[in-house]
Amino acid sequence: LERQFLRVQRLESLGTLASGIAHDFNNILTPILAAVQLLPMKVSSLDEQSLGLLTLIEDSTKRGAALVKQILAFARGAEGKKVPLQVRHILSEAIQVVRQTFPKNIKISSDISSANLWTVAADANQLHQVLLNLCVNARDAMPSGGNLTLFLENQQIDAAYARMNLEACVGSYVVIKVTDTGTGMPPEVLERIFDPFFTTKEPGKGTGLGLSTVLGIVKNHGGFIKVDSEVGRGTEFSIYLAAIADAARAQDEKLALLQGQHE
Ligand code: ADP
Repeated sequence: LERQFLRVQRLESLGTLASGIAHDFNNILTPILAAVQLLPMKVSSLDEQSLGLLTLIEDSTKRGAALVKQILAFARGAEGKKVPLQVRHILSEAIQVVRQTFPKNIKISSDISSANLWTVAADANQLHQVLLNLCVNARDAMPSGGNLTLFLENQQIDAAYARMNLEACVGSYVVIKVTDTGTGMPPEVLERIFDPFFTTKEPGKGTGLGLSTVLGIVKNHGGFIKVDSEVGRGTEFSIYLAAIADAARAQDEKLALLQGQHE
């Protein structure tokens, strides 16, 4: 427990440090980007090679700015405005984005229609970010195509289950499952995936902040994450979000009542 506590503390101070650096860095990048975009308009005749160099500066600066944005999102993890919502709506939005932007050799299937899903108190933007991060990771794990499946369900965690799973707490949850048929992960990768800046992707492709951001957001929503992965077969991320307890109970009672009437 003490080790866990130290780890959380270490992550928090890392977050504070990172956001400080990110903020200053942003102030440095903004004028560079503005200048590099203005210059070609000011100078009347630029040769091809100079234009190429300017494009290189612009692209790199943009990549820097994107990284800074991600670091800030990671450090900001704890905030967010929570309202009661149906995860289904966020999921169908994310699926639309994914369908439009992912390569055609990735087959996307989803079952989000399940009628009686509980309500969660959540920040819509943060949940959207969680889903996109997981989908992008799934895409990157399937370079030559595969299946991406998104699925939603209610789950009641009881004391016996909570005892067996360190992260889980007793309660009602809405579970988002994101499954891919990609590379999968060996144990030495799996145990580090939530560490900030841990990545196996080539430089420029991954920041290693995706899953640490996801974990921060999920914890902020009273939830936890389960990962099942097998090398060569694929990976399943299960995101548990605490359901609004009263809403969950009320819906169940109503359903029981309805079912009782039908019998
Ligand atoms: P990034 O995507 O920038 O590398 P993440 O924190 O999102 O950062 O992921 C960390 C690492 O976890 C990835 O580099 C990859 O090795 C591994 N990973 C995450 N999701 C998957 C997945 N669905 N399949 C295989 N490996 C994954």
